[in-house]
Amino acid sequence: MSPSVHGGRAKCLQRLVRLDMPVPTTVALSFDAVRDIARGQMPDMDELIAPFGGAPLLSVRPSSQDPDWGGPSAILNIGMNDERHAALCAEIGEEAATAIYLRFIQSYAVQVARLDPEPFYLPDTPTLESVRVMLDAFEYETDEVFPQDPVQQLGEVLRSMARAWDGTTARLLRQAKGAPIDAGLGLVVQRIALGVGQGTSGSGVIQFVDEVTGERRIKGRYLSQSQGREALSAAKGALYLVQDGRGPSVEEELPELFAELVRFGELVRVRLREEMQIEFTIENGKLHILDGVRVQRSNRASVRIAVALAEDGIIPTDEAVMRVDPAVLSELLHRQVAPMTERDRIVRGIAASPGAAVGRIVFSANDAQASAARSEPCILVRRETTPEDIRGMHAANAVLTVRGGITSHAAVIGRGLGLPCVVGASDLVIDKKRRVMIAPDGREFAEGEVITVDGSSGDVLAGTATLEEPALDNAFQTLLKWADEYRDIGVRANADTPADAQTARNFLAQGIGLCRTEHMFFEGDRLGVMREMIFAHTSEDRRAVLERLLPMQRGDFIELFEIMQGKPVCIRLFDPPLHEFLPADKSGHRELAEQLSLPLSEVNARVEALSEYNPMLGMRGVRLGLTYPEIYDMQARAIFEATVEASRSGDPVVPEIMIPLVSAMREVELVKSRIDAVAGHVRAETGTNFTYRYGVMVETPRAALRAEDIVQYAAFLSFGTNDLTQMTYGLSRDDAGRFMSSYVNAHVYAEDPFHTLDIEGVGELLKIGAERGRLGRRDVVLSICGEHGGSRSAIDFCRRQGFDYVSCSPFRVPSARLSAAQLAISDSRKNSMR
Ligand code: PEP
Ligand code: MG
Repeated sequence: MSPSVHGGRAKCLQRLVRLDMPVPTTVALSFDAVRDIARGQMPDMDELIAPFGGAPLLSVRPSSQDPDWGGPSAILNIGMNDERHAALCAEIGEEAATAIYLRFIQSYAVQVARLDPEPFYLPDTPTLESVRVMLDAFEYETDEVFPQDPVQQLGEVLRSMARAWDGTTARLLRQAKGAPIDAGLGLVVQRIALGVGQGTSGSGVIQFVDEVTGERRIKGRYLSQSQGREALSAAKGALYLVQDGRGPSVEEELPELFAELVRFGELVRVRLREEMQIEFTIENGKLHILDGVRVQRSNRASVRIAVALAEDGIIPTDEAVMRVDPAVLSELLHRQVAPMTERDRIVRGIAASPGAAVGRIVFSANDAQASAARSEPCILVRRETTPEDIRGMHAANAVLTVRGGITSHAAVIGRGLGLPCVVGASDLVIDKKRRVMIAPDGREFAEGEVITVDGSSGDVLAGTATLEEPALDNAFQTLLKWADEYRDIGVRANADTPADAQTARNFLAQGIGLCRTEHMFFEGDRLGVMREMIFAHTSEDRRAVLERLLPMQRGDFIELFEIMQGKPVCIRLFDPPLHEFLPADKSGHRELAEQLSLPLSEVNARVEALSEYNPMLGMRGVRLGLTYPEIYDMQARAIFEATVEASRSGDPVVPEIMIPLVSAMREVELVKSRIDAVAGHVRAETGTNFTYRYGVMVETPRAALRAEDIVQYAAFLSFGTNDLTQMTYGLSRDDAGRFMSSYVNAHVYAEDPFHTLDIEGVGELLKIGAERGRLGRRDVVLSICGEHGGSRSAIDFCRRQGFDYVSCSPFRVPSARLSAAQLAISDSRKNSMR
């Protein structure tokens, strides 16, 4: 018997039987048998019913391959009819027998004959009269008498459950949970152990773990004179299992049965290698185990359970690593909307940075800062964010934008900061003048109103949703430690500031794979100095202003090197177009004119001169570096001086200097000759020797195609898959959000390529770039550092291409470590099977 033939429940029951558990007689019908039943081909019913002996009461339960895929509800007490009822009245008393009969008529009428439920509500007191009324109602509704033949009853139950599985709703529901189109349903027919009747009788469920926290403890309920899972929904009368002061318990009242249950539970955990919930019945003092299902669990509990099973020697550590979904780890790093919370959705956008936050709406970065100064949590709502908004983003608890995709400014910064972020909520309208945002259903939300942003689902909710706290417990750390033992590709972090670096270090990143230095210029009062630099007329003036930025930048690098002690730090030289540092609106221009003591006309003229039709393809990256070489000179000096300084107090630092947006070998040559000269000066001035490595960021298709000659000057190539995706598709990373969902829905693209690495196209360029890079330099170090770096599919691709590491946002480092380990384990399992 296997879960792919008879379903998970059947397989589990078979294992319980093999463990000599007191499981009532059970027969399993395979997926194929159930498919035949749905088509009207019934199995040999006499053969099916034979193992149960004469006049049994039976239950039928669904058994899908994965219990999460659901299935029709169980039906109990098949075989009840007038004759059996009369016999049971003598055996267990009229009231108990009548209750069982009524329950069966009800489930048969509603679930099998699909009648309206109203005439079949159960009365408070089961009487013979109520049986008569229900049987009459059945006959009235169907023009047929209620079937009395147990074989006919069983046949109809099987048929209705087999057909229910084929219903459209059931199919859609299970497909949403990952079931394949042709997922099968098995059915389990079992003799009923009666929890109703003489002596000690009742039923209940028991589990040995807390499904929310993952802690080991006995949980469950037991209800005397009950069947199935009634104990869980009973308003009163149910017993707790363990004696803990909350009320009477099975442990006190039925100590022997309790001890037996605990013994079975331990055995099941060890032999089934899983935390199971066990359904049991006590029939006249005798314990029966009816069913075992995997305990449904929270994300946090899933990590704890896997680790505890391995620590107890029940599963090996690689199995524990395989059992946790990497996405779960990302969620655990952030607050989440509690699963059962009611969601009053305002709008849905792209889930760009996981986690949830509650706060008051603000529409500007300044207001976000003011709100933070009052210690009032706020949500920054913008059409889109620009570098100017960074300080506001730092101050906000979450960010919501109308425009943008998964690699837009808000998304990238949000992920770096671990700030919940929803972008591309294009159905939302911001009315700046009236300071309100208007939801697609017309509701208006004014500045100051409280909303919840759920960056894990993309939902924006009205009001305050209940949030769950992050859970970075020992189990989390242990799991990742084990993951690292199996992982065979490096994981670094994209970290722009010392705070990011600290997060990266805490998550055990193996270095910084991308430090976007321009982000440092948005901090504190640096933006003002940066703007002065932009307004400088001559190279000397520019150099003079850059002199003032030098100590700040040097300080940043010293901090980064110190935090990352002993780990590589890859610093990318300045990349964005300069206009990103200028204010976008008129009032900003006026402020700037005041700050710089310049006529407004000059500010306007400069802003205009810097504007480009296509800034992302314009003067940015190395092009800017070559046009205004003083900028890279200053950055190189800051890197080298910081290298000397940080090496004094710790291990020698070997900085990696990365050149962005390269498309020709000569660009690298020119930058290198200037930077080498700066290194020479710093060596001479400080009397200290140091080494450094150059790298090229491969983010234009040409750089990938020409990697063989470009790599001459580069010890490493790092693929910037954000820009490379943008340029391969000719698709603006900031504007694609507008139509991406309709494109994906229409299957034009299988996925948003900014979110999921496009293996067929962009991947081909990565492959070509890697191959040609290796032709030029055998030992070139290869990596990716775009937003894809943390995703499983990209890590899979990079491993197969023999890349050295991936680099991703600090908060994605744990899940990247886990994904990488899982991929390595799967490969080694496949290899050992060959
Ligand atoms: C990239 O283009 O993939 C990249 C990492 O650089 P940025 O996102 O800063 O353009
Ligand atoms: Mg880039």
